[in-house]
Amino acid sequence: MSTTTTINPATGEKVAEYERITTDEALKKITKAQAAFNDWKRFSLEKRAKLMHKLADVLEDNKETYAQLATTEMGKVIGQSRKEIEKCALVCRFYADNASTLLADETIKTEATKSYVTFQPLGVILAVMPWNFPFYQVIRFAAPALMAGNVGVLKHASNVQGCALALEDAFAKAGFPKDVFTNLNVRSKQVKDLIESNHIVAVTLTGSEPAGRSVAAIAGQNLKKTVMELGGSDAYIILEDADLETATDLATFGRLQNNGQTCIAAKRFVVLDAIYDAFLELFTTKMKKAKMGAPTDEDTYYGPMARADLRDELHGQVEKTIAQGGRLVLGGIVPDRKGAYYPATILADLKPGMEGFDQELFGPVASVIRAKDEDHAIALANNSHFGLGSGVITGNEKRGEKVALQLEAGNSFVNKLVASDPRLPFGGIKNSGYGRELSGYGIREFMNTKTIWID
Ligand code: NAP
Repeated sequence: MSTTTTINPATGEKVAEYERITTDEALKKITKAQAAFNDWKRFSLEKRAKLMHKLADVLEDNKETYAQLATTEMGKVIGQSRKEIEKCALVCRFYADNASTLLADETIKTEATKSYVTFQPLGVILAVMPWNFPFYQVIRFAAPALMAGNVGVLKHASNVQGCALALEDAFAKAGFPKDVFTNLNVRSKQVKDLIESNHIVAVTLTGSEPAGRSVAAIAGQNLKKTVMELGGSDAYIILEDADLETATDLATFGRLQNNGQTCIAAKRFVVLDAIYDAFLELFTTKMKKAKMGAPTDEDTYYGPMARADLRDELHGQVEKTIAQGGRLVLGGIVPDRKGAYYPATILADLKPGMEGFDQELFGPVASVIRAKDEDHAIALANNSHFGLGSGVITGNEKRGEKVALQLEAGNSFVNKLVASDPRLPFGGIKNSGYGRELSGYGIREFMNTKTIWID
């Protein structure tokens, strides 16, 4: 029998072992999900909204348990785990309250007696999800998909299988009909057979670029719609009129939140020459001061990375960048302690062609880049095969907006770190993926946008 073992990254100790299911068992569950869809799609929006509100209540009522579980399985600092659960409830409520408006028919004036666009659910959606926001990433897909009348099957990241089961249980506790939301504890190599099932109509994946390429290729072969939320190497331009305290506060939190493992985290800091040295000095002071420690301690600023292999991979990227001429300003040494810890690290004077400039550094490592002027900064920010988030820090909002409009990314924020908000679309361009989650754009991704014409 094959199993998944979860490991506490703060201690390296085993947490639990979960039985994997075979592909045949997974396909049987998908067949049941298809049967559930046939009923679920007929539920009124009001009935679905009631259940979605109940799910928000269940999440809030069990906030501490779920937060502790996330922290144990992937090392998120406990306060941030609690915030993650709160955000899940917020997203559930947003879709419960707004789905009817977001999915309202659109009348289009033509020469017909009546012509309009209506939105109908597609069926069973397969979600392949990552560990970095083990509750939120799943809810971000499931709340709109289920409100729209689709049903979901989840292949979650192996290291957060406890969170996957907790979510399945939360849907059941909220009173959702059986098989409307199902967890499938399968290996990633089994995903191909699931996508090929006739019952799966679409796939959404949040994860790395290689996983996205593989899943999108299989789905493409099978002509199945996909939404891809992949990696990023978000650039934040620090203009010379920025307030340095604000810029370095944002940079420190942006780089260390979720232990440096956020897709939309600030990763590359493109700083104008006039303030480069001053920014680097203050940023280094603040990164050095941030407390690394056990994620269960309330005063810890950042904890361990989610897995030791990911930490080792990140360290390899740091060493490679230094060998390519990057300047190590802070950190860069694997600490001699139990757990998957990596210190706050700053690599400065990075240039295109270096690992820390070109690739995503998914951990507490900042890349600092010097720009001659504003145009050079924009060119450096856009010199990336990713295009997820981006930002501008400036004392002049109008100037910031002008720069933000020129950044090649799905999200560009001025004087604020990029964050997802259910009212606004979220997603990337280039190798950061395609399609959108959240808002009306997200809920319509997995719908049949259907034209009705009455002559
Ligand atoms: P990952 O290794 O790509 O894993 C993501 C999910 O895909 C997991 O469930 C994993 O299963 C599965 N998977 C991996 N390779 C697969 C394959 N070839 N076929 C089918 N499934 C496969 O990514 P991660 O390390 O969990 O997450 C980090 C990455 O996700 C970063 O690049 C980050 O930027 C990105 N991310 C993007 C967003 C966004 O919204 N754009 C949000 C969060 C994270 P196993 O665990 O069993 O391998």
